[in-house]
Amino acid sequence: MSDKLHECAVAGDPGDLLLLRVHPAPLRPSRTAFQRDRERIVQSRAFRRLAGKTQVFTSRASDHFRSRLTHTMEVAQIARAAAAELGLNEDLAETLALVHDIGHPPFGHAGERALDQCLCRHGRNFDHNLHALRIVEHFEQRYAAHRGLNLTLGVREGIIKHSRDYSADQHPDLAEYLLDERPPLEAQLIDLADEIAYLTADLDDGVESGLLEISHICENVDILNRCYRAVEREHAGLEEKYLFNEALQLMQNTLTDDLIENTRKNTQAIGAESLADIRRHTSRLALFSPQAEAERLQEKRYLYDTLYTCDALENEHDKAEEVVTTLFNYWINDPEELPQGYFDEVREEGLARVVADYIAGMTDSFILLQYAQVKRAVRR
Ligand code: MG
Repeated sequence: MSDKLHECAVAGDPGDLLLLRVHPAPLRPSRTAFQRDRERIVQSRAFRRLAGKTQVFTSRASDHFRSRLTHTMEVAQIARAAAAELGLNEDLAETLALVHDIGHPPFGHAGERALDQCLCRHGRNFDHNLHALRIVEHFEQRYAAHRGLNLTLGVREGIIKHSRDYSADQHPDLAEYLLDERPPLEAQLIDLADEIAYLTADLDDGVESGLLEISHICENVDILNRCYRAVEREHAGLEEKYLFNEALQLMQNTLTDDLIENTRKNTQAIGAESLADIRRHTSRLALFSPQAEAERLQEKRYLYDTLYTCDALENEHDKAEEVVTTLFNYWINDPEELPQGYFDEVREEGLARVVADYIAGMTDSFILLQYAQVKRAVRR
């Protein structure tokens, strides 16, 4: 591959494989391959739609709630900073962060669950990583010579493997992505950068929504409590909401530093000197320390118990399920009502997959519009 060489996952490693594109792309000497991928992703339609997709709160009760786009940008900041500290390829880490949620349907995890249940009834399932790959390889159409964004193998592999391992036996179609090997550290970092971003943001948005109280969080989330007390000692007398804001930043920095240090320690412990060493290792090396991992789990449980499954959000989830399920069944029963481009895909992909593809691409506002129209049509 004659493209400009990027800094490899570990210095001195032949990382050219990561730069491979399905279709040869002309050299752009001013930009690395991963910088070009970042541009392709940021300029994609699917990326712009992230602005209209739920992160946690579907209701627009506050303009300050994260959308999936602002969440994505927070993950990108953390991933890039961690990659820089570890001497990894910052452009690859940032690009993977920017694309990591591009396969999410509307209405956050409730929408994903509902879509998966709909597909299960047709013997299929919905997986947002696999859907993200379909978006960048198939649905985005920006180039005359081919479908898809023609991203490097490094980015496509990271889309598939950043958050979980797929078994080679069950996914022969993904053989290109070296399923028996661990992904580069840049990809391994993304899942944990994602954790850090949402563990911080969801406490923030939870308090903004009025569903969480700062004092209750401090009583139940050790890491936030420790950060809050440290900030309080330094800024005695400051109003609670400002102490909380500072504590959130300190918590985010604490988790990020822990991830960096522990990943460095793990990499050194196996004597990794090349990407091949990272790939060959039996488990992932980008990890939190045991203490940070325990505190991460404690906070995650707290968020599940008090926020994600609280009555107010469960009402939003029920509505999401109703909207997704109604529309899915409508187009399954009446496929000719699908837009022509999707209808044309039915022969190749099967109706259930095509309907799910159409729904998965929608923003919250667009799917609600479709729902209202379908309800009106059904009543007539
Ligand atoms: Mg995410």
